[in-house]
Amino acid sequence: MDFDDFQPLLARAQSHAAHFIDALPERFVGARAGREEMMVALDAPLRDAGEPGEAVLDLLAASAPRGAQACAAPRYFGFVIGGTLPVALASDWLVSTWDQNAGIHVISPLAAAVEEIAARWLLELLDLPRESGVGFVTGCQMAHFTCLAAARHGVLRRVGWDVEADGLMGAPRIHVVASAEAHVTVDVALRYLGMGTRSLVRVESDEQGRMRLEHLRDVVASLDGPVIVCAQAGNVNTGAFDPLRGIIQAARERGAWVHVDGAFGLWARAAAGTRPLADGIDLADSWATDAHKWLNVPYDSGVAIVRNAEDHRAAMTVSAAYLVQTRGAERDAVDWVPEFSRRARGIPVYAALRTLGRDGVADMVERCCAHARRFAARLGAAPGVRVLNDVVLNQVLVRFGEDDERTRSVVSGVQQEGTCWASGTTWHGMAAMRISVSNWATTEEDVDRSVEAMLHVHRELAARAATSTT
Ligand SMILES: *Cc1c(COP(=O)(O)O)cnc(C)c1O
Repeated sequence: MDFDDFQPLLARAQSHAAHFIDALPERFVGARAGREEMMVALDAPLRDAGEPGEAVLDLLAASAPRGAQACAAPRYFGFVIGGTLPVALASDWLVSTWDQNAGIHVISPLAAAVEEIAARWLLELLDLPRESGVGFVTGCQMAHFTCLAAARHGVLRRVGWDVEADGLMGAPRIHVVASAEAHVTVDVALRYLGMGTRSLVRVESDEQGRMRLEHLRDVVASLDGPVIVCAQAGNVNTGAFDPLRGIIQAARERGAWVHVDGAFGLWARAAAGTRPLADGIDLADSWATDAHKWLNVPYDSGVAIVRNAEDHRAAMTVSAAYLVQTRGAERDAVDWVPEFSRRARGIPVYAALRTLGRDGVADMVERCCAHARRFAARLGAAPGVRVLNDVVLNQVLVRFGEDDERTRSVVSGVQQEGTCWASGTTWHGMAAMRISVSNWATTEEDVDRSVEAMLHVHRELAARAATSTT
């Protein structure tokens, strides 16, 4: 192996990448292979003698079309995934090429400056308090962890307890309030932070999955001591927003910290048409979001934002004798994220924002929402098909034949048919197909082709059921 190996390997990787991407719009959208096929293709004893890099790349690339879902494809509507903008992918390659440890400024003035700028742009675009701390983390899970660590620090500081020094043993008890519909990653963050899931007090939610404000008021009034309220901007099933302004007002009166899960919903702030959904969101104390979902940068990329930058920094900062940390305006990422050594994952965020501009982001958000409404209108008009949610954002819940089993069969039939891919879910005890439109590349034609495929599977199953009963 020598330095000249880079160019041929990178050229080969580029060629493999180009083939993969060229096939995305028309390939079978799901993964065709399972574990067995992947193991047959890829497993081998770890040998003493290595193999040529070209061969290893070819082997991996040959397995990708069957073993990987086409998540970045325009008719991929599974989970809440988001595609990849061309410039985001390309800049992500550069991040790997530069191989910067973006933990401290002294190693990478480049990464530190780019992330400082991307952080400022995000606060402007999402119109959140400009003085907030911002950390680029792996995803919304770690954004929750970071924000709730800052919250834990903040609410205990106010009662005279230094959690960073003294931990939680013997500390005043913190109550965490979240709706019955809070995303499971909030629970996980509470576990990581030593607050446990039993510290969670659940507030009821309504038929769209929104927190019930009256119940929140009662719950908050009944609690003693430090309180953290976790609200949601964008329910993972329905896309619904909690009544944020009212929640934040009620929590404020009680001196509580309000954290908002805006994994994809926070991006509603960036477009005029969806902005009213997030009314009052800027009054919260912390916000967790993803860039790998609706901003369409490659995995893994989340953002933690905390209004009180001192609480944020106090919860995350590191100091060690050998670390050359800055004392000036320079940004050391270690102060804002749980990682120590880290990838410069803010760079694709910068590239995406700079390339799209405000208008481009707004356009992407509004286009996805319009596609979701088109799905709802076309599917909802078909016999035996019902849309279960108010389509306020990019999420659509669809039920077929008013029947759980039929709905699940349509979901798996659609996944096996391959024109598009959507996930199954359960909503208020009912099986549903969940369609998430969160990819810049999706067109109206993609929506129409997907609707046709879904209705075709639905009609076939209905016809088969009818003949089997006669
Ligand atoms: C996806 C999602 C999360 C978790 O985000 P990751 O990036 O997967 O860690 C949290 N909350 C909501 C509402 C989500 O949609």
